[in-house]
Amino acid sequence: MTIPELSLSDGSRVPALGEGTWHIGNDPDARPKEIAALRAGIDAGMTRIDTAEMYGDGASESVVGEAIAPGREQVDPVAKVLPHDAPPSGTTSACEESLEVLGTDWVDLYLLHWPGPHPIEETIEAFESLKDRGLIGAWGVSNFDPYDLAALPAAPVVNQVLYNPSRRGIEFDLLPMQRAYTPPIPAMAYSPIEQGRLLDHALLRSIAEHHGASVAQVLLAWAIRSGDVIAIPKSADPARAVENAASASIALTAEDLAAIDAVFPAPTTAMPLEVL
Ligand code: NDP
Repeated sequence: MTIPELSLSDGSRVPALGEGTWHIGNDPDARPKEIAALRAGIDAGMTRIDTAEMYGDGASESVVGEAIAPGREQVDPVAKVLPHDAPPSGTTSACEESLEVLGTDWVDLYLLHWPGPHPIEETIEAFESLKDRGLIGAWGVSNFDPYDLAALPAAPVVNQVLYNPSRRGIEFDLLPMQRAYTPPIPAMAYSPIEQGRLLDHALLRSIAEHHGASVAQVLLAWAIRSGDVIAIPKSADPARAVENAASASIALTAEDLAAIDAVFPAPTTAMPLEVL
């Protein structure tokens, strides 16, 4: 099984499926299984691991650090700075702290978790200086709507946003806007399984049965169907992590996509960016 790759504007190639880690690290007893799940996902090709200083106040970064330690060079961690940490000195120290907890000298991608009160130009200056120091490979943003994106003085490498069949608002304006950049800005789809809320949906179950797949796999195949979206499902279960990676081999048909459109219509008007 090979997960298709897409290009980021910095020239790096990224698998279309990575691993999320929100809520990972919250329960010390679950740590061994969480580490096993992240490693199973990495072995299955989901080498981009998304984490954030916010998740468990560093607990998620700590689990990620242990999971990636044996094969750090095969993994591309993504970390995030909280908006209130994002004035220049705060960005720098938040990044240094994340690197220490992750047990690594650098992360491939560093994101502003959502737009905040500080001048974005100053945060980007701090990102650029972290890049110059080799502490981050590239910077991006998260939860930026078209207005926020347009206000950026330079293009981010990705914009991480909520995206799944029940959260399609970005298809109306944000995704077309990101595609219009040269080079385009890929979206990184968070909560692509809608945190489990769509797993019992009758239509999705029938599509899944038709493909001999699970509903989670159908949702992931749907999220990455355009070839320019990266989905980052979270699973603390090794078998599910492998299952999620295998969704790359599911080719949804035109009939599947039309049936999903009928039940989860694409947006016909601009709507506020949804966040979780
Ligand atoms: P997801 O849509 O990834 O859903 C996670 C839930 O789905 C968990 O309960 C998980 O349970 C379950 N699950 C995963 N795989 C399967 C499977 N194959 N079969 C059945 N259930 C499954 O939700 P998240 O909100 O976690 O989003 C993914 C990641 O995106 C986050 O972890 C985080 O890294 C990022 N994120 C970023 C945000 C931002 O503001 N930038 C906001 C929200 C998320 P189990 O673990 O038991 O398998």
